[in-house]
Amino acid sequence: MKTPSLNDYLNYNGAHCFRLWASLDNNWVCPGCKRSKFQIMRWTTRFYQKSDGTRETYKGWMAGLHGHHDHSVDYRSSQPRRFLETIICDQCNAADGAVKRKLKLDSNFSFSPFEITQFVIPTPHSKHKINYEIAENIYRYVSTIMH
Ligand SMILES: [Zn+2]
Repeated sequence: MKTPSLNDYLNYNGAHCFRLWASLDNNWVCPGCKRSKFQIMRWTTRFYQKSDGTRETYKGWMAGLHGHHDHSVDYRSSQPRRFLETIICDQCNAADGAVKRKLKLDSNFSFSPFEITQFVIPTPHSKHKINYEIAENIYRYVSTIMH
């Protein structure tokens, strides 16, 4: 596993998430996995779009960020939202999606950042491991309260 240098961090512009990246200060930590901006940087395969439209791959730093909100309020508008919209890292976002697919949960359901904290096992500059059993228990508990 590769660790970025301070220069790698300072020179990283956020790539496709440059607006979100720039909006977060150096003290930000992901509300799901509690990793810092520096710690969410991961050495990975990136894509470069050439002028002829074809894509080439190369290795580089990536720190994906996602706006995360309670999708259930979109169709269940009479209910209070379970958590406020926030920004989470790509690994927490991926974990939320992976759990929903694996456990075949309602795609409109979103785990709150606090709930994600309980079932991800984060590593700096790497991918999360997921504890699906804890995730399923949280979902069962939460869906009992929601109905
Ligand atoms: Zn995270």
